[in-house]
Amino acid sequence: MDKAGQDRQPAHGSEILCPACGQDSLVKRTPLYEGFKRVGEQLACAGCGLVFPGEAAVPYKTRKTLPGFGLEDVPPPPKVFGKQELAETVGRLCRHCDHYVVNPFLQRCALTHREVEATDTCPRFAPKPPPKAGA
Ligand SMILES: [Zn+2]
Repeated sequence: MDKAGQDRQPAHGSEILCPACGQDSLVKRTPLYEGFKRVGEQLACAGCGLVFPGEAAVPYKTRKTLPGFGLEDVPPPPKVFGKQELAETVGRLCRHCDHYVVNPFLQRCALTHREVEATDTCPRFAPKPPPKAGA
């Protein structure tokens, strides 16, 4: 009767990898009472008896679903640029523009004679001719 108390398994399972004994173990839940009132559970390693301070501290073994990551578990990356949008923006950067002139001290646009940043974009963008092969 040493396995008593395992009848109520939580949804995420009770398997833990105990940091104290280093074993694949189970979390043992012992109801805690204050007087006659149940105030919670004590969570402990069933192997070595290490008591975890709270549910969040229990080293539950992560459930294996698919090899690698289940895509649904990974939050989508923050949407900064759509791929298309990014390609269009990068394609129109001043640094790729035929009018872009780099001097040692500043970068400017040969069309507007204004100082520009390499990462600027402008509606008068003209693609730089591809570099000659074998140059
Ligand atoms: Zn343990």
